Amino acid sequence: MEQQKKGVLFVISGPSGVGKGTINKRLFHEFGEQVAFSVSATTRSPREGEVNGREYFFITRQEFEKRVANNEFLEHASYAGNDYGTPRSYVLSLLERGVSVILEIDLQGALQVKARMPECVSIFILPPSFEELESRLRGRGTETPEKVAQRLAAARREMEMADTYDYQIVNDDLDAAYARLREIFMKETQRANG
Ligand code: ADP
Ligand code: 5GP
Repeated sequence: MEQQKKGVLFVISGPSGVGKGTINKRLFHEFGEQVAFSVSATTRSPREGEVNGREYFFITRQEFEKRVANNEFLEHASYAGNDYGTPRSYVLSLLERGVSVILEIDLQGALQVKARMPECVSIFILPPSFEELESRLRGRGTETPEKVAQRLAAARREMEMADTYDYQIVNDDLDAAYARLREIFMKETQRANG
């Protein structure tokens, strides 16, 4: 009998605006059948173009607290004034079916996942410079100046912890950054299936 394939849990962090979404989209484009994106729940309001159930499940704070109390999150954290959480049963059922999963979560969440599922593979995406990060974040035009400042402050703190992740990728040239992620993805999924 053919052995069930093992799914790998990837935890990807990096400051807001560094290009996580852009790079991950490429991975799904290429490996869509082997990998799924875990859609988190958040109390943040949707940005223009974001769809409920696609980028996030946009829920009220009350609903969020109910899910925390019911232990429905694998991890959850507060980031720049909003709450975010990873749906536990969805992620675990994908992994059991042999599908790899990407969690695009912040540092606090990554630490919780690492503690609970030490076999996960963690990747931190870094900007080529802080100035470039600021320019990408402003250029995206999705946040108020106050929110941009809040996210840049969080970015400084997070980037100091990049070394604690299994891998670091600098997103300078997008093609090169994607090539590195692709390489890590293939190496780690092959290793898990020895
Ligand atoms: P995140 O998901 O990390 O918040 P996004 O994927 O939304 O970041 O990217 C933020 C902005 O930076 C977007 O406008 C995106 O097009 C741009 N961007 C992403 N990668 C690069 C890159 N390598 N060079 C220049 N701009 C980039
Ligand atoms: P944004 O509001 O820009 O979509 O996300 C802000 C930050 O929250 C990013 O660092 C993103 O990776 C993180 N994030 C998104 N979903 C989750 C989640 O479920 N848990 C945690 N801990 N962080 C999350």
